[in-house]
Amino acid sequence: MSSMKNYIEEANKVLMRTYNRYPVVLDHGKGMHLYDVDGKEYLDFTAGIAVFALGYNNEKYNKALKHQLDTLLHTSNYFYSVPTVEAAKKLAYVSGMDRVFFTNSGTEAVEGAVKLARKYYYKKTGKAGGEIISFERSFHGRSMGALSITGTKEYREAFEPLIGGVRFAEFNNLDSVKININENTCAVILEPVQGEGGIYPATEEFIKGVRRLCDDNGILLIFDEIQCGMGRTGSMFSYQSYGVKPDIITCAKALGCGVPVGAFAATEEVAKAFEPGDHGTTYGGNPFVTAAVNAVLDLYEELNILENVNTVGPYLSLKLNEIMTKYSIIKEHRGMGLMQCLEFSVPVDDIIACALDSGLVLISAGKNVIRFIPPLILEKKNVDDMIEILTKCLDKLY
Ligand SMILES: *Cc1c(COP(=O)(O)O)cnc(C)c1O
Repeated sequence: MSSMKNYIEEANKVLMRTYNRYPVVLDHGKGMHLYDVDGKEYLDFTAGIAVFALGYNNEKYNKALKHQLDTLLHTSNYFYSVPTVEAAKKLAYVSGMDRVFFTNSGTEAVEGAVKLARKYYYKKTGKAGGEIISFERSFHGRSMGALSITGTKEYREAFEPLIGGVRFAEFNNLDSVKININENTCAVILEPVQGEGGIYPATEEFIKGVRRLCDDNGILLIFDEIQCGMGRTGSMFSYQSYGVKPDIITCAKALGCGVPVGAFAATEEVAKAFEPGDHGTTYGGNPFVTAAVNAVLDLYEELNILENVNTVGPYLSLKLNEIMTKYSIIKEHRGMGLMQCLEFSVPVDDIIACALDSGLVLISAGKNVIRFIPPLILEKKNVDDMIEILTKCLDKLY
């Protein structure tokens, strides 16, 4: 008799009903694989939602965290600590930004970025009221501020009134951005590759056009790189492959590879709008989480993570294109690097359930989209294994 059933029953009594969870109780992981409490193995193509870039239980990562655990976990931000300074230096270097603020999550990174943009506008114009342009289908988080700029109306509606001064433009449509600009616009925020909304990469023309519009109108450009950053699309941050530099970035998910840490970073010109007292956090960027950031960024280099994404990403792309030609219910294949998707003409719940049953963890991005966001240590043979299971499920179901 499976012990999983009991855990699931208990969970469904005590946890808030905000998620439709998979009927699996996970126990541990190793590399590309997860194991449930009954010992069943799963090949993982979700990485805890684009988090575990280095795979599960990387030895050097674990060692760095254990060391920090035995040294100093937390200090408060009224003190300096070596891991925090080192992590900020590294993140500034790989992002091309000048100053960093560490947060506890992606959502908080977005909150901070929006606050910084508004403060910058306030200092520049001498008045409050800076407006934000965001995009349809975008996702920036669930707190009141981040939710206010999230493009899915169903997520927002019950929680209104949210923060004001937000307009939604159509993604990849420059004219739509243009008509939403007015003299109060202080920032445009976008995901260079939209994640939760269904894996939609920006076109180069669009992203360059938005940069130009922002420059011409004195508007800050914020890139939300929480999902598409940290090497996922083949460069450390996806704007680097577009050749466009933002004024502010947000980062989280793979930044800590499992410990809760995010960050927003900005150019010197923008960052100097913040003065002591403008923003803060108790835990944010403490020595423990920044020791993780340091280990992650070091391991990216040591393991040539970007090179691997640029080798295995095109292979995944090839295989997903192949499978698309075999099944008429697959409508489209989109994505970059190891952030790809297949859009179906049917809901994907049954496919994901069948895959899980067959030892493959997949995740959706909207009703009809399966998203492929595996650990970045993915190998070609993992792609073959995934395709084999997916094919079996599609043959069984359709
Ligand atoms: C996940 C995500 C967030 C929210 O991050 P949390 O760590 O869940 O708070 C914000 N923006 C994007 C693009 C994301 O993918």
